[in-house]
Amino acid sequence: MIAGTFNPVRKRLFIGLLSASLLAACLLLTAIWYITANPVRSLFDQVLLLTLGVSLLGGIIVAGFGVGGIVLTIIYARDISAFRGPMRVALNIFFPLALVLGRFFHIEKDRIKNSFIEVNNFLVRSKVLNLLPRQVLLLVPHCLQKSDCPHKITVDINNCQRCGGCVVSELLNLRDKYGFNIGMATGGTLARKFVREYHPRGIVAIACERDLTSGIQDSNPIPVLGVTNERPFGPCFNTQVKLPKVEEAICFFISQRDKLAS
Ligand code: SF4
Repeated sequence: MIAGTFNPVRKRLFIGLLSASLLAACLLLTAIWYITANPVRSLFDQVLLLTLGVSLLGGIIVAGFGVGGIVLTIIYARDISAFRGPMRVALNIFFPLALVLGRFFHIEKDRIKNSFIEVNNFLVRSKVLNLLPRQVLLLVPHCLQKSDCPHKITVDINNCQRCGGCVVSELLNLRDKYGFNIGMATGGTLARKFVREYHPRGIVAIACERDLTSGIQDSNPIPVLGVTNERPFGPCFNTQVKLPKVEEAICFFISQRDKLAS
C-alpha cells in the first residue's frame, strides 16, 4: 500500500530529533545511575533516584520501540498494530524534548512541527480505516474567512453566502459533494466541542503548524490528517489552503470503503 507522498527529508528531521532525544534520555539515565551508586547519598536520595531511573528506563524502552515502529511503518508503508502504543509514547512524550533539542541546534520550530505533521500523516495513511463520510470531520480555522465578510460563520458555517470571496464556499461545496461533517473552530475549546458533537473516526484538520501539532496530540487516538494553511498576509489573517490537498485527505478516509467494497 502506498501511504501518501513520500518526503524523506521532512520526515527524517523529526525522526532524527526523536532519536537524539532518546540518546539524551539515555545520558540522563547514566548520570542518575552514577549518582545513585555514589555512597555519600542518603538512603532516601538513593531510593528517589532509583525510582526516577527505573521510570526513565521504562520510558526509554517504550519510546525506543516507538521510534523503531515509526521507521518500520515508513519503510514498509503499512500499519504495524503491535507498535501503535509505543509509537504514541514516542510521538507525544518525546515531542517536547525534540523541540528543545531543535532549539539547541538552531532548527526553526515550524520546520520541526512540519516534519512531525508529515510523520503523523504518513502513520495515519498506513492504516485501513474504512469510514463512512459522516464519520469524517473537517475542522477549519476561522482565519480562512475573508476578514471583511459580514456573515457570522463562526456561529454557523452555513451562514456563508458562498460568494466565492474566500475558500469557505469551496469547502462547503466539498462537504455537499462527499457528505462529511464540517466545523469552524476559533480555538481548541470549540474544536474539542465539534469532536464531542460529531464523534468522528477520522479528522482532517486545517491549521497552522502550532495548532495542528497540539490538535493532533489532543485528538489522540482519533486519526488526524493535518493540512497546513498558507499565510500570505501573516498569521491568523485571510489565510488560504490548497483545496486539492483537503479533498485528497477527505478521500483517503472515505474512498478506502469504496475500494474494499469493489
Ligand atoms: S465565501 Fe463569501 S460569504 Fe462565505 S465566508 Fe467567504 S467571503 Fe463570506
